[in-house]
Amino acid sequence: MTVNKFIRKLLNLKGLFVSSFKFYMRYRQLILWVKPHKNGCLCPHCKRRGRIVRTMPEIREWRDIPICGWSVFFRYCPREIICHTHGRVQEDIPWAESYGRVTYRFEYAMLVYCQLMAQKAASKLLHIPKSTLSDQLHRTITRIRDGHRIRGLKSIGIDEISYCKGHKYATIVYDLDRSCVVWVGQGKGRETIDVFFNTMLSDYQKSQIKWASCDMSAAYIGAIEDHCPDATLVLDRFHIVKALNGAVDEVRKEEWRKASGDKRKALKGLRWLLFMHSSNRSKKTSRILNALRKGNRRIHRAWVLKDEFEQFWEYKAPWAAKKFLKRWTTAALKSRLEPMRDFVKTLRKHMHRIISFIASRLTNAVAEGLNRVIRIVKNRASGFRSLPAFTDMIFLTVGDLDIPAQIPLKFRTI
Ligand SMILES: [Zn+2]
Repeated sequence: MTVNKFIRKLLNLKGLFVSSFKFYMRYRQLILWVKPHKNGCLCPHCKRRGRIVRTMPEIREWRDIPICGWSVFFRYCPREIICHTHGRVQEDIPWAESYGRVTYRFEYAMLVYCQLMAQKAASKLLHIPKSTLSDQLHRTITRIRDGHRIRGLKSIGIDEISYCKGHKYATIVYDLDRSCVVWVGQGKGRETIDVFFNTMLSDYQKSQIKWASCDMSAAYIGAIEDHCPDATLVLDRFHIVKALNGAVDEVRKEEWRKASGDKRKALKGLRWLLFMHSSNRSKKTSRILNALRKGNRRIHRAWVLKDEFEQFWEYKAPWAAKKFLKRWTTAALKSRLEPMRDFVKTLRKHMHRIISFIASRLTNAVAEGLNRVIRIVKNRASGFRSLPAFTDMIFLTVGDLDIPAQIPLKFRTI
């Protein structure tokens, strides 16, 4: 076996020929002079052989995945050819995208590493600076997702997420059936979501959407009702529970401000106990909460109302749920707790959208699960400064297209 053959086998370089190699000890670089298999000269569009016009004057370099601590580079001078159909073109480069600076194999490793770990760690493994990695990642993902279309959307979820240390917001649209993200846009207002409906979906696709779930923001509700009149809008259970918990917390805060000394001490550490679902409560926490009955009547009243509301989600028949909601709202109004009354106001405004939950059982739970993954990605990177970088990572981890699988199979080795 010749040394060339050995290197080719070792680096798993099928379909290309290594004409010479050189080790640069100082930079720990291995430079491989390569050639396409069978002398190349293929048209990149139709893969037919063309006639050589000239060899490009400049040497091009592609980065491959590092091996045993050596950074590996391919060097080659591509040739210009004349194809009968496509005219004068640069010959097909089998190991990389025609104007890329890295090989397909490098792109695959980069995508898989970035799915699994922080970009900083991935950049160490791949021997490139982090800024270069994120540029390259953006280029690769943009190329792969170019021309990708949303298909078969039936249930959508819309939610917002913060990035850039919580200063900025992005709107995320989910496919709830397939549990993936289909779109990300800057901002959280009506104009943002309008961009999605206007540019990403055809009129037919909009009419195919049967279910939609979102939080209580007027912008999202308005957009869904305008663009998809056939869809049944369900307000997300998670957000309603959150709003109710918020109201209970508001009561607690008011009491905290009023109380002083020993009374204040008794209210300490109550916050998370109040939020707890009844099924998760231990005997001890129940005792503490029941003690409130004597300790602080107002918080106790708010908590009892919140606990009673849990029943609502168990109903199977919409009419029964409606009846329950009527009874509950009356009780809440009588409680003379201002935050609770505000909550009832929102509830009454969205009554039919909340009742539709009982019939559909559609929740944004899928979206919340995906949101959790997105948050992990965000925290791993210690936040993102720009939306494109964040969008790349969202599409890479929970997008509707399996991005690493778009790299040709023979290059999927790490
Ligand atoms: Zn051609």
